[in-house]
Formats: sequence, C-alpha cells, structure tokens
Amino acid sequence: MNGKQIRKLLERTRLVDASGFRLRDHDPGDTAPKVVREAEAEALLAAGVARLSELQTLLYADARWSLLCVFQAMDAAGKDGTIKHVMSGVNPQGVQVHSFKAPSSDELAHDFLWRVQRELPKRGHIGIFNRSHYEEVLVTRVHPELLERQNLPDALRGRHVWRDRLRDIAAWEGYLARQGTVVLKFFLNISRNEQKQRFLDRIDNPAKHWKFRPEDVTERGHWDAYMEAYEAAIAATATPEAPWFVVPADSKWFARLVVVSAMIDALERLQLEPPRVTPQDEARMIEARRRLEMEKN
Ligand code: ATP
Ligand code: MG
Repeated sequence: MNGKQIRKLLERTRLVDASGFRLRDHDPGDTAPKVVREAEAEALLAAGVARLSELQTLLYADARWSLLCVFQAMDAAGKDGTIKHVMSGVNPQGVQVHSFKAPSSDELAHDFLWRVQRELPKRGHIGIFNRSHYEEVLVTRVHPELLERQNLPDALRGRHVWRDRLRDIAAWEGYLARQGTVVLKFFLNISRNEQKQRFLDRIDNPAKHWKFRPEDVTERGHWDAYMEAYEAAIAATATPEAPWFVVPADSKWFARLVVVSAMIDALERLQLEPPRVTPQDEARMIEARRRLEMEKN
C-alpha cells in the first residue's frame, strides 16, 4: 500500500476529536472503491504485513516506544481473524495478545483498570487487546447487573458513573501516551444484518460450530443499547493521543487493510532507527572479527 492509499483510508476512519460523532454517519459496508479494489486486497495486505514486520523489528531494536492496539466489536465482527491476519508476519517474541473475558472474582475485587494495566506491552513490544477496559463502559453499561457485582461503594455508583469512567479511561490513555505507549483503538463496525449472516453461516457450517454460542444471539437483542454505548464511549475517548478508528467491517478484507494501515502509519510517525553503534562498540566489533578469523577451524 502506498502512502497516499494509507492516508486516504485513515482520513475516513480515524477520529481524534469526536465531539458530534454519530455512529450512523459511518457505513459498515464502506470499502473506499476509489482508493483500493477488492481484487488487489490480498497483495496489498501481504505488502502491509511485510512492512509492519520491518517496523516491528525497529520498534524492538529501539526499545523505547511500545504500541497498544485495542480491538472492540460486536460478536462475529472479525476481531480474531483481523488480529491473526494483520499480525501474521511479525516476530511472535515482540507481540502479546490478550483476550479479556468476564472478570474473575479476584479481578472484580480491584479497580477496573487493574487487570488491564498488568497486560500492557513492554517498551519495544506490541500489545494487542482482544476486548479491553472498554467492556466496562459497554457490556457493563448494557447490563447494569454487572455493575452490581463490582461492589462499588453506593456513593460512587450514581448516575455519573459512566461519564466518570469514560473520563478515567481518557486520562489513563493520555498517561500511557506520555509514557511512550502509542495507543490505537479499533472499533470493527459491522451491520446488524451482516452479523446475522455470519451467525447463520456458523450454524450451517459444522467446521465453524465451535465459534458459535447461542448466547450471542441473545446478546444481539441488545444491539441498539450497544450502539448507544459504543457511540458514547468513542465520542468521549477519541483523542490525538489515543485515536479511535471506526473500521467498516462488513468486508473482512477492507477492515484488515484499514487496521494494518493504521499500525504502519503510527509506527512510521515514530521515525524509528536502529540504535547507533558507538565508535568504542565498533572497535570492539572489529576486534571480535579479528579473533573469529584467527580461530583454527
Ligand atoms: P469470539 O468472537 O470468539 O466470540 P469474544 O471476544 O466474544 O470472541 P468470548 O469468550 O465469546 O470472546 O466472550 C468474552 C466475553 O467476556 C464477552 O461476552 C465480553 O462481553 C465479556 N467481557 C469482557 N470483559 C468484560 C467485563 N469487564 N465485564 C463483563 N464482561 C466482560
Ligand atoms: Mg463471543
């Protein structure tokens, strides 16, 4: 993918200030036909994955910045497949993927950022969150009984709880950015109808049965409440330090191109270079080479 294509894809999807943001202005079926064509998608993704791999090597060698990619979406939107394809070329030693499930009792006994903080990537590493702290303003907001289980003091569970959580999240992400973690957040935006088709496909295809959970169909009944919660979360937490990407995800190939573009763009902006070797190091290398050459066999 060339720089212009990357810029064009990100122009349509990146949000750094979402005041006035409305989810219904973002079409899940968009594929930017003037920028990329489906026929070239495979080759573009392969090139993007190769570029990402080079940049990851530089990130690792530089060992000062880290990259955190947060993935949020409704079920069957393609988080797993996107992560698998986009990260397929990078050295697994420099990447950690963490999937956040419903919190354990130990996790519930702490503040909600506790378990997330522990999974942050080290300097030089890429961290991938498959779901994240955002569940605390999404599923927990749609199902208030989950908030009940968190044993918050009564005085802190009032009507400002969601506004306060969103502010805390934005402040925490700003802190991470100021510590050298580049934060990118992806909302894989599928339409309600596409989700239905993917569920039907999972039911009809025995090889995909393991991906299907009947409860997901129940959860789909709360679609509008989820969309409201996503809209509020994105509007409150899209910042220049931690942008959201509202990724049209009805076409998997397109979603993957947007995600790889965002990661490439963010890493290129760091202008990473391999660490410089000092003259003393260079002298030591020359000496090491001389010793290797003197070895008998
Ligand atoms: P898949 O696409 O494979 O279904 P998934 O991310 O949905 O992937 P699951 O194991 O099906 O993975 O679901 C994880 C569940 O954990 C989700 O229903 C999610 O809402 C829930 N969850 C994650 N974080 C929290 C949280 N903080 N509080 C309550 N529930 C949570
Ligand atoms: Mg699921």
